[in-house]
Amino acid sequence: MQTLNVDTLFTNAIIITMDADHRIINNGMLAVKDASIVWIGTTDAQDIQFTCMQTLDLTGKVIIPGLINTHGHWAMTLFRGLVDDLRLEAWLEKIWQVEAAAINPQTVVTGSEFAVIEMLKAGTTCAADMYWQYFESFDAVKASGFRMVNGPSFADIPGFEHRRDVNYKAAVEFLDHYANDPLIHLCIQAHSTYMTNIQMLEDILRISNDKQIGFITHAAESEGELAQVQQKHGKRPIQVLDDMDLLGEKTLLAHCVHLTDEEIERLAETGTSVSHCVSSNLKLSSGIARIADMVKAGVNVSLGTDGPASNNDLDLLHEAQIAALVQKGITKDPTVLPAEQMFEMLTINGARAVGLSDKIGSLEVGKLADLAVLDFDAVNLTPYYDLYSHLIYAASSADFCHTMVHGKMMMQDRQILTLDEEKIKAEVRSIADKVRQI
Ligand SMILES: [Zn+2]
Repeated sequence: MQTLNVDTLFTNAIIITMDADHRIINNGMLAVKDASIVWIGTTDAQDIQFTCMQTLDLTGKVIIPGLINTHGHWAMTLFRGLVDDLRLEAWLEKIWQVEAAAINPQTVVTGSEFAVIEMLKAGTTCAADMYWQYFESFDAVKASGFRMVNGPSFADIPGFEHRRDVNYKAAVEFLDHYANDPLIHLCIQAHSTYMTNIQMLEDILRISNDKQIGFITHAAESEGELAQVQQKHGKRPIQVLDDMDLLGEKTLLAHCVHLTDEEIERLAETGTSVSHCVSSNLKLSSGIARIADMVKAGVNVSLGTDGPASNNDLDLLHEAQIAALVQKGITKDPTVLPAEQMFEMLTINGARAVGLSDKIGSLEVGKLADLAVLDFDAVNLTPYYDLYSHLIYAASSADFCHTMVHGKMMMQDRQILTLDEEKIKAEVRSIADKVRQI
């Protein structure tokens, strides 16, 4: 009999693996050593025994791959509920005014840490962020143990000329500083094609190629954006990116609400991924992305919450539920995007979108131990016939009891272990008092 020395052993669980065969293991057992999953099987396995630091009996509970949020602006937790019920352009104008007055390294640290807490409580273990990049906020997130996809973000925003801290040189320095970090997965970003000029896009392409890192930007979010991009570049956003050689497997586009059939084809052809942010798109009346058509065409579609000022939460299960219902409504076809397919978007598709499908997105031996545990003893999840159905249509963020990132318990019995929730909440309230004065 083989003996394995591991750090954490989860027993008696239902395991939703999201591996290539979408295996579901009843009475499952999963072992974690250091940052990785080292063994998966059933709790009654006869040919192996474990010595371990801690064992968690997960009777009545379900282990899933940690959810992956492929688009957001984390520190906007500070502005949740501040500006609602406006069109995107008017909304942005107000938000930029508040940000100009309230954003600094310390507020971004607090807002980002608060976002990490909210995401961990909602089963999310990896997320992409696009906001002001400060060493302080990167260091704080790294210290929390959360997995972040982030990098310098180019933007030419009116009123922010004095703080043009992103340029080619600064971006490269920033990227070199965090190279090869196990928890910070670097990318290069542009706010959008209407907020960047050709020089910036050229710099981005060069950096992406030199560093072999992904590229993330907002694209085709609203009709107003299409008009602005037409005026600035004389073409549509997808065409601008295509002409700059910025579509491809390393590219992730947030929103893609307004795409032609040809543009959808082009995204599929180039292997470009999409982050669908349905709540934000609905709330800002930007429109509804044709993700059922995108999936049919072969585009890798993942899900994002967008920032908490336009959603207004960081709850990916909620996002998946709305996305599924909206597509069924607009296509008048309840068979489109069944629950299992939606769950792919939350996990393995998300991993693919941020270039990490060899490391996360499914529970397999050799992959990193990023996972979340839901209590299926909850009233709203009893009884169950189909696990995916409950995850998409019935579960809520409150059903998560544990979250693990990189082999480390981040939340246990809903207690956040690596950040001081009450202290950070108090800091957020204090910043909000100042925001009210702006
Ligand atoms: Zn966004």
